[in-house]
Amino acid sequence: MAKTGKQRLEELKKDIFKCIHCKACRFAYSGEPSRKGIGEWKGKQKSVLYEGMVDSCPAGIEYGWEAFWNAGKIWIARSILTDDLEFSEDLRDVIMPCITCGQCQAQCENKIRTVDIIESLRAACKEAGVPMIDKHQLVDNIVKERNNPYGGEAGDRFKWAKDAGLEKFINNKDANVAYYVGCTASYRQVEVAIATAKLFEQLGINFTLVEDEVCCGSPFFRIGAVDTAQELMRKNLEAFKDVEILYFSCAGCYRTLTIDYPKWMAEDEKLPFKTKHAFELIKELITKEKIKFKPNKELKGKIVTYHDPCHTGRHFAVDYEQRMIEESKNLMFDMRKIGQEIDRWFEKPRVILRKLEEDVGLVFKEMYRIKLNSMCCGAGGGVRAGYPDFSLRTASLRCDEANAVKADFLLTECPFCWRNLYDANELYSHGMVVMGILQMISEYNLLDIIEQPTDEDFLSTEEALI
Ligand code: SF4
Ligand code: SF4
Repeated sequence: MAKTGKQRLEELKKDIFKCIHCKACRFAYSGEPSRKGIGEWKGKQKSVLYEGMVDSCPAGIEYGWEAFWNAGKIWIARSILTDDLEFSEDLRDVIMPCITCGQCQAQCENKIRTVDIIESLRAACKEAGVPMIDKHQLVDNIVKERNNPYGGEAGDRFKWAKDAGLEKFINNKDANVAYYVGCTASYRQVEVAIATAKLFEQLGINFTLVEDEVCCGSPFFRIGAVDTAQELMRKNLEAFKDVEILYFSCAGCYRTLTIDYPKWMAEDEKLPFKTKHAFELIKELITKEKIKFKPNKELKGKIVTYHDPCHTGRHFAVDYEQRMIEESKNLMFDMRKIGQEIDRWFEKPRVILRKLEEDVGLVFKEMYRIKLNSMCCGAGGGVRAGYPDFSLRTASLRCDEANAVKADFLLTECPFCWRNLYDANELYSHGMVVMGILQMISEYNLLDIIEQPTDEDFLSTEEALI
């Protein structure tokens, strides 16, 4: 039976009452106050001191008031559970402009599941009869009618594949590997879908694009429309029930099918397939020395930097940490091991970037806020649709960080991050090229196959964090 937001909030009661309102969650590097940075950087948004702990909650930075920072929201959740506060439109307008980036959860020493709490609070708010904000109501109506939030025709979902000569992969019945494209790459950033599918083809993967694919439900889980999200989840579980593994090029879809679906499925249900992001496969093939990259004169000497999408980075890391804490019999001992595993996870895209540096001649430079402390792109949590100005200012702050390391290319691994960073880069004239890593590999024809990868390589999830 479907769970309600109020039920999830009750389940999270222990977490909510663990909050001591210390406000460590507003910063990046809350555990490293003396961290050396790059000093002051005058970006397009404002002058930022990249040294030590820096504010890193986009909602708090944008709105400033106590209730908008995470600590305020946790206390709102607490007051709801103790009946000291009622849901209202005013309350909704405080809990909705949050990107659900998870920076707060990564900083909290009490390991409070902040994003889960915020999402459940939003769901409970909707269940209490408070209407959604107009823009969220609009996308909710659209997805119910069209199975995607952009309003595209269902029949056009894989138009990009037909246009790119990849139609043989649509409903390819012989394949047990599927590419879950997602709505953003299908209807907007088709460059990402084409690059990913072409790389798969080059690598010799016999994959399928399943025509019954629908929106993963991510925006609806985030904004509290969990009834809509669960309907979409059911359709996808049915559409992909016969494949062994699902590949993703979108961080949000990957997180949703891997982390959210099992949470919202019945207790005795299991995901019928394995999940894996395409960048994980590229990393593994580099480590196994089955692929390398070709040198490229145009790219040689160019500076690239990498934006960790919250959904594949921090969200996987904190979910993994929570699971391990629950299972641990000796937490002091296990925390070190958990930290090492999380670091291994964040290193995966960096293995690709270092290989690009070595083989292609690019120069890879890290921004100040990275990995668990990474600054969000501003697109998630329903913010891009609901609060576009806030969303783009946040993306511009992230572009400031890339400008601070003089990046020519700002690379990421999510079409939704791509979209927001790209738009902010244009709007605020940051002067970089925004691209996906796989898109760069595909568009510059960098892939060099040393040894043909096998089905075992494609089906393996041995290196997965979750
Ligand atoms: S959520 Fe964690 S870090 Fe934030 S105020 Fe509460 S206890 Fe402190
Ligand atoms: S999820 Fe991100 S935007 Fe929301 S309160 Fe936490 S740090 Fe702030």
